[in-house]
Amino acid sequence: MEPHGLTHGTIFNSNVCSKMLLPAAASPMGHARNCGLYFRKTPSLLCSIRSSSSLPRRPLRYAVLGAGFAGLSVVWHLLQHSPKELHLRIDIYDEVGIGGGASGVSGGLLHPYSPKVKLLWRGADCWKECMKLLHVAETEVCPNESNTEVGKSSQQCDRFIVRRRGIMRPAMSMKNLNVLNDNAQNSLASCRIETMDEDAAQKLVPNLCVPFNSAFYMPDAVNVHPQRYLQALFLSCKNLVKELSASGLGVKELFLHKKSICGLREFEGEYDAVIICLGAKADMLPELSGRLPLRTCRGVIAHLQLPDNLGEDYPELGPSILSDGWLAIQGTRSLYMGSTWDWKSRNSSPIVHEDEASKAFQELLPKASTFYPSIKNWTLTGARAGLRAMPPLTPLGSLPLLGSVNDFVAKNCTTRYWLFGGLGSRGLLYHGWLGKLIAQAVVSCNEQLIPSELTSWKKASL
Ligand SMILES: Cc1cc2nc3c(=O)[nH]c(=O)nc-3n(C[C@H](O)[C@H](O)[C@H](O)COP(=O)(O)OP(=O)(O)OC[C@H]3O[C@@H](n4cnc5c(N)ncnc54)[C@H](O)[C@@H]3O)c2cc1C
Repeated sequence: MEPHGLTHGTIFNSNVCSKMLLPAAASPMGHARNCGLYFRKTPSLLCSIRSSSSLPRRPLRYAVLGAGFAGLSVVWHLLQHSPKELHLRIDIYDEVGIGGGASGVSGGLLHPYSPKVKLLWRGADCWKECMKLLHVAETEVCPNESNTEVGKSSQQCDRFIVRRRGIMRPAMSMKNLNVLNDNAQNSLASCRIETMDEDAAQKLVPNLCVPFNSAFYMPDAVNVHPQRYLQALFLSCKNLVKELSASGLGVKELFLHKKSICGLREFEGEYDAVIICLGAKADMLPELSGRLPLRTCRGVIAHLQLPDNLGEDYPELGPSILSDGWLAIQGTRSLYMGSTWDWKSRNSSPIVHEDEASKAFQELLPKASTFYPSIKNWTLTGARAGLRAMPPLTPLGSLPLLGSVNDFVAKNCTTRYWLFGGLGSRGLLYHGWLGKLIAQAVVSCNEQLIPSELTSWKKASL
């Protein structure tokens, strides 16, 4: 049965910055009025009303703003953690569509370590949950081909979601070597760090520069194709909606609206919760503007190819390379070279014009040449860019910003507003676990479920 006569996962287009234009029958308010069960209560009271089984229920409604790594992880986990027996409706709003922001252009490099291979804060949890989400997306698209081994068919085609070839980190100075050596002692069993000499490293990457005869190889680290991953994860969410609805318990609905959001007030009373996952543009909302401790930083990634008549193919089993700059390998003759750091830029456009591309190429090529001199044989074929939302540096590292932001929006709101932002340059690593945490907090209306390290930014901002 399709509630409101709509298909699961319908995509609506509506006017930019207009008042929400949901089809009348699909309007959450409309539906609530039909049921005659629209509660205008404080969030905590709403939660207690929901837990009372004696009362008839209206649909539980969540709006997720943004369809990047953060937004889609939240959607997946809201579906997983919401009570199965409830009628649930999730509306995703994004002005561009799936992966329209930084996520869609990211380099896709994924491992739980800092550039100096130090395990990041709660790196084990982040790694585990991210691997689960990648698996969900992969099995959606190629049910038989998701595996952790190297060399299976899904890895050999150029249309991978996850390329499992590891990441190599050569030491480029003596000081660097000592720090890397120390940090590598505390690697995770699920994402190992192996120390290699020049010969062993060059077997994996011929011509790799290993000036101090030491390279740190993370065989379990991966390279994700961000657009394919996000499209597959969205498909997984839509299929989970169908599966949950078919179980005969509560109906589930998921809608993607292509719409620009200009403020949070328009959601007031329409939803039980609104989860803001707008990346670097979160602080462009009037309610949050100037109140989030975020700095923006534009990054350009150059796309390179090896011309047919030139050079040796990059090895099929060759890892991506990380140093001062990085190479994310896409295939034997295709790679991404990243990335620039244009602090304070507010330009979120993925489009890179010729002069910006050429400037980025001139900046990135010398860096990549220091660890992979053969890069000079490769040709620039394009460039993409994104705007990072950089959180403040704390003694635990640069941690994303999570939590309830009702105090920023207005007192006595009936809707509860949540922020999941500031994923910085490690959005892939953080999106799985933190998406799960915020979804659990939203469903139970309990911010305490989020570790205080991720909500403490609010003390300074309120
Ligand atoms: C050049 C570059 C390379 C990177 N490489 C890596 C990497 O290798 N590994 C890694 O882990 N991370 C990397 N990152 C970081 C990673 O991309 C980010 O941390 C991550 O994408 C943030 O995800 P997000 O969902 O918070 O934001 P976004 O992906 O930016 O998503 C926000 C969404 O909100 C939408 N939106 C914004 N404003 C509005 C509005 N007003 N109305 C409606 N919709 C709106 C946008 O269209 C977008 O789809 C890189 C980033 C850059 C820029």
